[in-house]
Amino acid sequence: MRVIAIDGPAGSGKSTVARALAQKLGLDYLDTGAMYRAVTFAALRRGIDPDDGERVARVAEDCELEMDDDGTVRVDGADATIEIRGPEVTRAVSIVAANPGVREQMRRRQRAWAERRGGGVIEGRDIGTVVFPDAELKVYLDARPEVRASRRSKEVSDLSYETVAADLARRDALDQGRAHDPLREAPNAFVVDTSELGVDEIVERVMERLA
Ligand code: C5P
Repeated sequence: MRVIAIDGPAGSGKSTVARALAQKLGLDYLDTGAMYRAVTFAALRRGIDPDDGERVARVAEDCELEMDDDGTVRVDGADATIEIRGPEVTRAVSIVAANPGVREQMRRRQRAWAERRGGGVIEGRDIGTVVFPDAELKVYLDARPEVRASRRSKEVSDLSYETVAADLARRDALDQGRAHDPLREAPNAFVVDTSELGVDEIVERVMERLA
């Protein structure tokens, strides 16, 4: 099984780089952040309080999640691609992701996904540290907070830069400070600061590292 793990905070360039790498290497691509978002969406839709750990963990276990190669995300059969990126889900996702019961279920699903496909390029926060500690290559992408906020605010045109920057800082703190599988560099990760780099350059550096 060939797994390339890409971790890092929001706006570090993970998705763009992971997609490009997957295409170059002929591997499938998995956005695990979208899975945490999908569980958050499923819980909110069922009227469950994100702080209700037990009930949310049950949703993570029994909801039906489909992650298509074209980026479409289906939750219990319904297309939730747009909704999982919306402000309600974005506000609640880091609480849901701090839940150890949810993490256990996501880990199980992510490993099953990779087994079925013989590997893949998998991006998230704990892929190299926890989910695939034996990955062929672990990449950790980072960038200065203002660069990450500016990238993100270009993607969500209806929110101000300040709102996006504040949300990013809040999520960074929650993701790095949580007790279970916090965001951190794997000891042997290839670390790239993407603040001043274009996608092609980052992909090139990672490909060199793989060679
Ligand atoms: O990547 P994205 O910003 O969409 O991820 C949304 C949230 O999902 C993150 O802020 C984090 O709380 C959580 N996450 C996680 N572990 C992963 C991927 C995402 O905890 N492997």
